[in-house]
Amino acid sequence: MGDPKAFLNIPRQEAGYRPVHERITDFSQVEQTLNSHDRRLQASRCMDCGIPFCHWACPLGNKQPEYQDSLYKGKWREAYEILTSTDDFPEFTGRICPAPCEKSCVLKLSCDEPVTIRENEAAISEAAFREGYIQPIIPKRNGKKVAIIGAGPAGLTAATRLNKKGYEITIFDSKPMPGGLLRYGIPNFKLDKGVIDRRMAILQAEGIIFEMGVTVDAKNLPAGFDAYCICTGTPTARDLNIPGRELKGIYFALDMLAQQNRILDGEVFPKDQLVNAKGKKVLVIGGGDTGSDCIGTSIRHGAVNVTQIEIMPEPPIGHNPTTPWPQWPVVLKTTSSHEEGCLRRWSLASNQFMGKNGKVCGVEVEEVEWVSPKEGERPIMKPTGKKEIIDADMVLLAMGYLKPEHPKFSENVFVAGDAASGSSLVVRAMASGRNIVEDIDNYLNK
Ligand SMILES: Cc1cc2nc3c(=O)[nH]c(=O)nc-3n(C[C@H](O)[C@H](O)[C@H](O)COP(=O)(O)OP(=O)(O)OC[C@H]3O[C@@H](n4cnc5c(N)ncnc54)[C@H](O)[C@@H]3O)c2cc1C
Ligand code: SF4
Repeated sequence: MGDPKAFLNIPRQEAGYRPVHERITDFSQVEQTLNSHDRRLQASRCMDCGIPFCHWACPLGNKQPEYQDSLYKGKWREAYEILTSTDDFPEFTGRICPAPCEKSCVLKLSCDEPVTIRENEAAISEAAFREGYIQPIIPKRNGKKVAIIGAGPAGLTAATRLNKKGYEITIFDSKPMPGGLLRYGIPNFKLDKGVIDRRMAILQAEGIIFEMGVTVDAKNLPAGFDAYCICTGTPTARDLNIPGRELKGIYFALDMLAQQNRILDGEVFPKDQLVNAKGKKVLVIGGGDTGSDCIGTSIRHGAVNVTQIEIMPEPPIGHNPTTPWPQWPVVLKTTSSHEEGCLRRWSLASNQFMGKNGKVCGVEVEEVEWVSPKEGERPIMKPTGKKEIIDADMVLLAMGYLKPEHPKFSENVFVAGDAASGSSLVVRAMASGRNIVEDIDNYLNK
C-alpha cells in the first residue's frame, strides 16, 4: 500500500477548475491538473482497504488500490498497465466518470475526503501518452471477422478487446468521426476532442477498420462477418408533447450540444440553422447531466440568463439517509456549469409552451408534490395548482432518452452499451462493451 499514515496527514486536494470569468470565454477543458509530486501524494492517501469498496462500485472493476500504490511509488508505467487491464480508455473515464468509486471510498465514509481516484486515473493516462508507453500492437489474426455498429465508448471497447484477440474488426458509424456521444454530445469543456483523436489513431494503427458515415439498418446487417455487435446507443430523445410544442425556439439538448462540438471542429452551419443562445433567456427542462451541459454551453454563447427546472424534488445536500455509504448517494450535485451561473428550481412540471408570433416566449410551469401512498412505494406526482410563467426565448429539452427496441436478432448478433441498457454512463457502456466480448468470443469458438 501507499504511505500507511498519509490519509491522516495529507488532505484531499482536487486540481479544481479554471476561474469562472476565464473559462466561460472559451470551450477548453475546465478541469486543471496537479503537478506530479502532489499527484503522488494524493495516491499515497489510499489505505489499501481489506475490502476495496471502490473496486466494487466501479462498473469496470478497476483495481484502484493497486494503481494508487504504483503511482505513489512513481511507477507510472506499472500504474497504467494495472489501470488498462480493466479500463481500456482511462483518459475518458479519468475526465468524465462521475466516479462512483470515490463515493464508496472508506475515506468518504470516515472523513468525507475520498482518494482522488478519477483525477489520478486521468494523470496516469496523460503520463502514459506523454512518455510514449502507449504504442500500437498489431495482433496475430485468427481469420474471423466481427462488425461493430456504433463507434461510441461501448463499440470502441468491444472493438479494442476483440481486436486484441485476433478478430478482424470493422466499426460502422453513421457519424463522420468516431466517439459517439463522447464526440457529438459531451461538450469540449468536459472532454477535449483531441483526447478521442489520439486514441483513435492508436486503434487504427492496431488494424481496426473505421467505416464512418455509414448508417446500418439493423434488419439488414452488412454481409461477410462472422458476428455483429450492435452498439448504437439511444438515438431518440424524450420529447415534451404539451401545447405549444410546435413553436420556434424549442430544441432537443443534442441539437445544441452536437452542433457546438461540430462548430469547434471546424464545421460551418447556415445562420438560420444555428442553435445559439446569444442574447436569449434560456430555459433548460431536465435537471441531469445533459441539462447541465446545456447550461455551460448557453453561458459560453452569451445567454442573458439560464434557468434549469426539474420535475423531481430537490435532493438533500451532502448526505441522504436513503442511500447510505457505500451506495451512490442521491444528493444535490453542483457541476462546473452550475457554478458558472444559473437558477435551479425543482418540483416543477411544464404545462404549456407560451408563444408570440410563432416563437416561444415562456413556459407555464406548475409546482408539484411527490407523495408516497405507503412507505416503500414509489411516490406519485400531485399538481398543486400553483402556476407561473417562466420567460424564455429558447427552451432546451434535456429529459433523457428512450430505451431502444431491437428486432429479434439471429444468434451471431450481440447488443451492448446504452443500446442494451438504455441511457447510462460512459463507464457502464465501456463495461458492457468489454463484457460482451466474452460472449462473442465464446460464440465464435464454440
Ligand atoms: C449531453 C450528454 C452528456 C453526457 N455526459 C456524460 C458524462 O459526463 N459522463 C458519463 O459517464 N456519461 C455521460 N453521458 C452518457 C454517455 O455519453 C453515454 O452513456 C455513452 O456515450 C453511451 O455509449 P454507447 O457507446 O452505448 O453509445 P453512444 O455514445 O450513443 O454511441 C452510439 C454510436 O452509434 C452510432 N449509431 C447509431 N445508430 C447507428 C446506425 N444505425 N448505423 C451506424 N451507426 C449508428 C451513433 O452515431 C454513435 O456514434 C452523457 C450523455 C449526453 C447525451
Ligand atoms: S472508471 Fe469511474 S468508477 Fe471506475 S475507477 Fe475510474 S473514476 Fe472510478
